[in-house]
Amino acid sequence: MHNAAFAALGLSGWRYDLLETPPEQLAVHVARLRAPDVAGANVTIPHKQAVLTHLDALEPGTQAIGAVNTIFKREGRLVGENTDWLGFLADLEHHGVEVNAATRALVLGAGGSARAVVYALIQRGAQVRVWNRTLARAQTLVSAFATLNANVEIAAQLDTDQAGWATLVVNCTSVGMWPHVDETPWPLSLDFPKQAVLYDLVYRPCVTRLMQQAQAAGARAIGGLGMLAEQGAAAFALWTGVPAPSVAPILRQALHAHLEEDRAPKR
Ligand code: NAP
Repeated sequence: MHNAAFAALGLSGWRYDLLETPPEQLAVHVARLRAPDVAGANVTIPHKQAVLTHLDALEPGTQAIGAVNTIFKREGRLVGENTDWLGFLADLEHHGVEVNAATRALVLGAGGSARAVVYALIQRGAQVRVWNRTLARAQTLVSAFATLNANVEIAAQLDTDQAGWATLVVNCTSVGMWPHVDETPWPLSLDFPKQAVLYDLVYRPCVTRLMQQAQAAGARAIGGLGMLAEQGAAAFALWTGVPAPSVAPILRQALHAHLEEDRAPKR
């Protein structure tokens, strides 16, 4: 999607490449980013945490989130950012969903993306409850944000109390992701709250089983493809200086085209 944006914006000298990085090559590959003709990088599993110690500076939030997905340069120094939290908020805004102190957000999951989402919700002053299959991991997440003086608690179970409380439900688990499209993290025995907006970070398939549950209950459901585009736009802006709102529509279109191609029968 970044190469599509370079082309669309006439940035002819720019290129987005894959750099396979086994763990023992991480330091060497980060050092390669210091070359003057490199603007930065994205970082993905399994390096999102390990890369923190190789950088010159970190943007606020990356310490609490505990992961970096974007590296960019500021005055020649390598700086780490996590654009997932920016992308999440930007996509909610795109869909006209306001997040503020009145928002009661029930977050499902306690992995890397849940940390970024919880950080984003805290930035907007929302009240947050975190449910996770493995309770200890939810406890670790909540402790990581304790110093931010935020309103974050644990939801030990998904039940009618939690469902009745939430105005926003965010799925940060990988449940329902292709090819396990019939799975859902929301118990089939529990009505999805129709007063809540569902945001599902899973973007493949575009409409997940969980989104179908929410829609059947009369709730609004938003899938994660827009967040993927928006986190990319935030990274693109850090590398090129082109404002994220100018890039995001190009990235959204590129992703949709790619998924259409994916769905088309192969010869
Ligand atoms: P992660 O760090 O591996 O965390 C996975 C989470 O899913 C954990 O909380 C895990 O619970 C939970 N989980 C896995 N299998 C489960 C099951 N069968 N039942 C209940 N819970 C289960 O992954 P991540 O990086 O946070 O990513 C999570 C999802 O978000 C993925 O689908 C990813 O593609 C998507 N994502 C989307 C965007 C976007 O831009 N839209 C950005 C980032 C991630 P345990 O702790 O109990 O194992």
